[in-house]
Amino acid sequence: MSTEQLTPELQKEFNPWLNADARIEEAATRLGLEDGIKKILKSSSKELTVHIPVLLDDGRIEVFTGYRVQHSVARGPGKGGIRYAPDVNLDEVRALASWMTWKCAVANLPFGGAKGGVICDPNIMSDGELERLTRRYTSEIIDMIGPEKDVPAPDMNTNERTMAWIMDTYSMHKRETTTGVVTGKPINLGGSRGRAEATGRGCLFVTLQALKHLGMVPTQVDVIVQGFGNVGGMAAKLMAKQGIRITCIIEYDGAVYNPKGLDIEKLMAWRKEHGSIRNFPEGETMPSAEALFLKCDVLIPAAKENVITSETAGKINTRILCEGANGPTTAVADKILEDRGIFVIPDILANAGGVTVSYFEWVQDRQGYFWNEQLVNQRLEEIMNESFWDVVHYAQTHKVHNRIAAYMLALDRVAFAIRLRGIYA
Ligand code: NAD
Repeated sequence: MSTEQLTPELQKEFNPWLNADARIEEAATRLGLEDGIKKILKSSSKELTVHIPVLLDDGRIEVFTGYRVQHSVARGPGKGGIRYAPDVNLDEVRALASWMTWKCAVANLPFGGAKGGVICDPNIMSDGELERLTRRYTSEIIDMIGPEKDVPAPDMNTNERTMAWIMDTYSMHKRETTTGVVTGKPINLGGSRGRAEATGRGCLFVTLQALKHLGMVPTQVDVIVQGFGNVGGMAAKLMAKQGIRITCIIEYDGAVYNPKGLDIEKLMAWRKEHGSIRNFPEGETMPSAEALFLKCDVLIPAAKENVITSETAGKINTRILCEGANGPTTAVADKILEDRGIFVIPDILANAGGVTVSYFEWVQDRQGYFWNEQLVNQRLEEIMNESFWDVVHYAQTHKVHNRIAAYMLALDRVAFAIRLRGIYA
């Protein structure tokens, strides 16, 4: 359903900027933050709009609009992806940049938050057009980015090839190869081992800590995963390897359920061969909407935003909600989950594994010394576990639920940096 088809109430509930704002407001109030600091935390530090002329394959010139927003650089360079989509807008990029500030602060990474986007439809553009668009966009935002300023990464419809073009364009302008200007690069161009699996692996680590915290045994729990892509597919695969039962995988066109546990590798092979998880012989195919409400111990929404809402939060049947996706739960739904006693591992904690390994990539590029995958995974586990317990202890100390605890922790860390640095006038 497109946003225009929603009722005005749901449009408000699904608005990413309003959702972020509601949580920031509550966390700031509980922290007793000074008004001035709150004003800084609620505004972007820098917003750039660029108009990008691109020569199309048929000889015409088209002008695309792009953005780069730095929400905060108080704790370090801006960090955040670049997305290409027809419906990108400045409000969305602002909200996502702010989200990155809180995610980096929860994981205690020395980064602020940023995000970029270009209004375009990559599905109807050739490789050559996409390359020309990416290079011209990079040269338009070049004064804003850099390893010590703001470090982009892939997001929706951009990938390691896009990052290689950005890195090359930046390096050509600077007259020196600068691998640390972006993360999510191909491994032989300064990318990090373990990056592709990092977000799903991070979900595994925090889920294991949550089970420990709640006295639950990993081999005796049932897990349902929505979204069988990079995050959900990897989380399911790694959990199954640990002997955790994945009873249901939900995709946009149907779900597959087996109460005894699905063979995730076989399901991946089935999807590759048939283009869908539907009709997998070792499970029952059912409608996606029904599967979301099946009983489980851990539910991992890892597909898209606004899945757990005022309409669905009362119907999910889980003890733990591990938010692999960005913004899967609306602020209105937070209260319902709290009243129902569901243990939420909020997105800014649960899916921070990706940006954590991006941080490792940036460190490795600056050192010119690359780590093996075991070291990457070990350090990722340390950071995810530490962040999990930081949030849980914050929740216990302040008697709040985990989402507000994560926001309070993040706001507190960023506010602390702003106070220490002072206002340069
Ligand atoms: P992806 O495109 O690899 O996978 C998404 C999967 O969800 C696809 O298989 C898609 O078919 C499925 N899907 C889409 N709509 C669905 C629906 N309505 N119901 C069920 N399944 C549906 O994307 P991804 O990289 O795995 O990202 C998923 C989410 O995680 C996004 O919210 C993204 O912002 C967030 N995230 C990703 C990373 C990362 O490192 N990839 C990091 C942090 C957060």
